[in-house]
Amino acid sequence: MTATPFWIAGRPEHGDTEVVVRHPFDDQVAGTTTWAMPTQVEAAVSAAAGAADETAELPAHRRATALRHVADALRDSAETVAELITAESGKPIRWARVEVTRAIGTFTFAAEEARRFDGVTQRLDTDPGAAGRMALTRRFPLGPVLGITPFNFPLNLVAHKLAPAIAVGAPVVIKPAPATPLSALHLGRLLADTDLPAGAVSIVPVPNEAAGDLAADDRFAVVSFTGSDTVGWALADRLPRRKVVLELGGNAAALICDDWDDPADLDYAAERIATFGNYQAGQSCISVQRVFVPRDRCDDFTELLVSKVRALPSGDPRDDACVVGPLISRDAAGRVADWIDDAVAAGATLHCGGERDGNTVAPAVLSGVPAGRPLAEREVFGPVLVVEPVDDTDAGLAAVDDSRYGLQAGVFTRRIDVAARAHRRLRVGGVIIGDVPSFRADQMPYGGTKASGIGREGVAATMADYTEPRVMVLPDM
Ligand code: NAD
Repeated sequence: MTATPFWIAGRPEHGDTEVVVRHPFDDQVAGTTTWAMPTQVEAAVSAAAGAADETAELPAHRRATALRHVADALRDSAETVAELITAESGKPIRWARVEVTRAIGTFTFAAEEARRFDGVTQRLDTDPGAAGRMALTRRFPLGPVLGITPFNFPLNLVAHKLAPAIAVGAPVVIKPAPATPLSALHLGRLLADTDLPAGAVSIVPVPNEAAGDLAADDRFAVVSFTGSDTVGWALADRLPRRKVVLELGGNAAALICDDWDDPADLDYAAERIATFGNYQAGQSCISVQRVFVPRDRCDDFTELLVSKVRALPSGDPRDDACVVGPLISRDAAGRVADWIDDAVAAGATLHCGGERDGNTVAPAVLSGVPAGRPLAEREVFGPVLVVEPVDDTDAGLAAVDDSRYGLQAGVFTRRIDVAARAHRRLRVGGVIIGDVPSFRADQMPYGGTKASGIGREGVAATMADYTEPRVMVLPDM
């Protein structure tokens, strides 16, 4: 098998150490690449720094054309790219197809935003001391961006770093997740066919041990990290004077409110929670982990949820029907199984699932998990739902908020006042009304509070993050 090249300043290159990427379901070889060597990493960073002015000066129509080219090329090869995502990450093919569609959207939104991105004028004569003057504020790229990405959305989360950088005219270097570099390298190939300046894009696979030093290189004006909270916060501590964006983990909650009592509505909520607590084996940062239900409905709802969870198709992720799939590694599956055992040993009730087979864990539903146990406090990042009763909607909102994380929350209500209260009170990046917390549209601001991160992604929000405003004061015209 020929090793997939990585991309240094738009050129395909190879290193001298092979990286074998294996399918998490059956260990088959999904592809190979090589680690970028230190000299190649240096070439990528110095090319990015050297290309900063040329990239910033690139007319908007050329940036938009490059972004559209990637969107079109992804559309033309959508099934092949989906199969690549499944092969390297174990993500069920149905979700891999969704990811490709979303990445096409991310590049398309960025092409549109590149055309719109402009300044604002402001009259200054409201201040007597500024009479006769006006201000024009435009945003300019901060400089080269380093994007560090996780394994669980190996295409679209790379797109979320790349596309906004190209849209604002900032050079970008991507360090993909070691387990899943192939989708990112495919994007590198598509971008090599555009007429962006050579140093504008590099994709460099490096091992974890080299990633921190790469980020510490102060030629990067922005470090945009998506991954776990432990690695993300430690990285931010290393970069005290740098613009750092952290998109980290969570233990997202769904709340059934008092008014959500119609049997058909409860069935819908159970279906959505079962699916989006377990899709791609719970390995999404906004996968449902905690479920709060009014006390008088909790037992019936748990029974309904267990029946829905048991019915979820799992197994080979290449199978069109598969919803759940394997975890990324044996270690990840072992940790999830250990956390379930720990909760049960501490007195929790296991209603279903939890059995481990290789990299696969059967979707589990628990209740009564004591406070302080990892399953109650931390991000499980596996196919596990923890259901707990609450006295009423307000107690439920407080329970949702009682977390070290704050990414998104799902609030099942039809009442506008409850929706408004949830929006006001919950310290999260997004409140999803009438659905699970797992909803994300790629153009909306997305990100977390508390341990879940700083900054927002979503094409326009990221473009703001990669730029800074600069005002020009003019005589009023
Ligand atoms: P991870 O933290 O293990 O790795 C993420 C990236 O960081 C990888 O590219 C890895 O190589 C790199 N890395 C590792 N050590 C590093 C270091 N010392 N310095 C710099 N970079 C380093 O995360 P993962 O297991 O790949 O992904 C899962 C995590 O990502 C979960 O916590 C999940 O919630 C989170 N996530 C968050 C979002 C979001 O948008 N908020 C989206 C997807 C995933």
